[in-house]
Amino acid sequence: MKNTLRSTPSVGAHGGRCIACPSAVSAAAVCALVALALLWGSAACGAENFPRPDFTRGETFPEQINPFPRAAWLTYVDLAALVVTLALATLFSLKLRSRAHLFALALFAVAYFGFYRHGCVCAIGAIQNVAYALGANGYKLPLVVGLFFALPLLFALFFGRTFCAGVCPLGALQEIIVLRPVRVPAWLDAMLSQIPFIFGGVAVLYAAVGSTFLICRYDPFIEFFRFGGTLPLLLFGAGLLVLGIFVGRPYCRYVCPLSALLRLAAPLAQWRPRITTGECVNCHLCAQACPYGAIRPPTAPERGFNRRAGRRSLALQLLLLPLFMALGGGLLRLSSFSLAQLDPRVRLAEEVWMQEQGIIQEPTDALEAFGNLEQPNLAAYQRGAAVQKWFDTGSWFLGGWIGLIFGLKLVGMSLRRRRETYSIDVASCVHCGRCYNVCPLTREGAAGDEGPGPGPLPLGSGVGFDGG
Ligand code: SF4
Ligand code: SF4
Repeated sequence: MKNTLRSTPSVGAHGGRCIACPSAVSAAAVCALVALALLWGSAACGAENFPRPDFTRGETFPEQINPFPRAAWLTYVDLAALVVTLALATLFSLKLRSRAHLFALALFAVAYFGFYRHGCVCAIGAIQNVAYALGANGYKLPLVVGLFFALPLLFALFFGRTFCAGVCPLGALQEIIVLRPVRVPAWLDAMLSQIPFIFGGVAVLYAAVGSTFLICRYDPFIEFFRFGGTLPLLLFGAGLLVLGIFVGRPYCRYVCPLSALLRLAAPLAQWRPRITTGECVNCHLCAQACPYGAIRPPTAPERGFNRRAGRRSLALQLLLLPLFMALGGGLLRLSSFSLAQLDPRVRLAEEVWMQEQGIIQEPTDALEAFGNLEQPNLAAYQRGAAVQKWFDTGSWFLGGWIGLIFGLKLVGMSLRRRRETYSIDVASCVHCGRCYNVCPLTREGAAGDEGPGPGPLPLGSGVGFDGG
């Protein structure tokens, strides 16, 4: 298919305003900003809140890969940065409709939330803090973390995914490198885009039980932001970045659990991104400009469609939803023992038992640490059994959730939406701004024929858009 940005005509041909890449942000400026971010990050890496202890026996310090603790007032600086950048992203996307401004904001997000803050605190990871606080762990959710979770969703409810436009450092990093995007086949995109819902459900279960924070553990870009980490994760991140040159934002579209929540919230937004200011002529240019497949084509008129049969099939699929949920719950309940293996308390209980049976001769680190506590083995067994019980119950919910996702996908596939023009799917749109001014009707306006021309549109204006 030729649906690539390269094939988008008129780049820079209308008043110097570039569509596919922001010419306003020159390559030199980009390099300077990235270099500045790297220097800034390096300096931040070297900063420590407390002096290191002066060991006398020649012990070596482990490599520091997690961010250093931050003074409480500085966390409010982060919160202020989040609020300001969310407001700016909304302004740039919906009011100014400026790709160049959004791109500059994305660079700032990579520099500040990425390299300077080392990717932490992060709205995606905050999902786990919320789940952990809701579990029976006695954890009190810090206000700032709660707001990092809630604010992007709140903005999405009103304006769509402006958080993804140029605030999230992971999305921003991927946005910068989309150079030769190719279109992912619709069926593959539809299948892969279910992964964030499933990954999110699994991550919530592990966080609620207090086992591990999976999203942070397998964050592919955090290692870059922290200038260090394990080789497999670095390779995973590098692979995603290389893939991201050709497939727009692979992490956002096919992994990020927050994207699942944002996809649910965005369709409710009253103020949304819009393409054209006049009657859509179905020229296809906006769809070509979008590397994320977020612009839906008009639907072909259906002849001989039996509405009554369609309604019957929809009713049947809705009735099957509880069955899918029960089936999913039952199947996952069968795997709850395997799911619990990732929890260190369950593994410790097993190791203690194996040691007791003489199966393990050499004590592991965990066994040694447990031995130093001088607790009876029964304590390890009880802790392990309690966690396993959590997994037994949680796996029902997780399986039910996966069954629901599957069932709803089937329902969605059988629903027929009529679209007479090209329109933005607000759930998938990350407000990158590439498509805003490709519309020939909007450009005609620039030539003084009619219409307001490219650039800012009044909020709520625009024809040829239904949020699809
Ligand atoms: S989809 Fe996820 S990773 Fe991508 S920009 Fe949005 S929140 Fe960030
Ligand atoms: S603004 Fe949305 S619809 Fe337009 S190109 Fe970007 S992601 Fe696609």
